[in-house]
Amino acid sequence: MNEPTTISEAVAAGWESLEARCDKCRYSVLMPWRLLRMRSKSEELTWIMEHAVCQRCGNGVRPSGFALVRSSYRGSAAPTFERFEL
Ligand SMILES: [Zn+2]
Repeated sequence: MNEPTTISEAVAAGWESLEARCDKCRYSVLMPWRLLRMRSKSEELTWIMEHAVCQRCGNGVRPSGFALVRSSYRGSAAPTFERFEL
């Protein structure tokens, strides 16, 4: 699978949101693309990851991990989430 480099590519590939995790405070958040587009000055995923700040730590603490996330339904089972580490 080709790794998306922009929000548009991630949307086209079916990814629903970007997950950011902070190892310092163990906070993780799912950001839908619509929200990211409103907040971010760039479409580039690398730019977004470089400029992200942990919402809980603040003070410029950068999240330590990012993943593309989408829900996946398999039969009648409860929805699960598919993740792709960036
Ligand atoms: Zn944090």
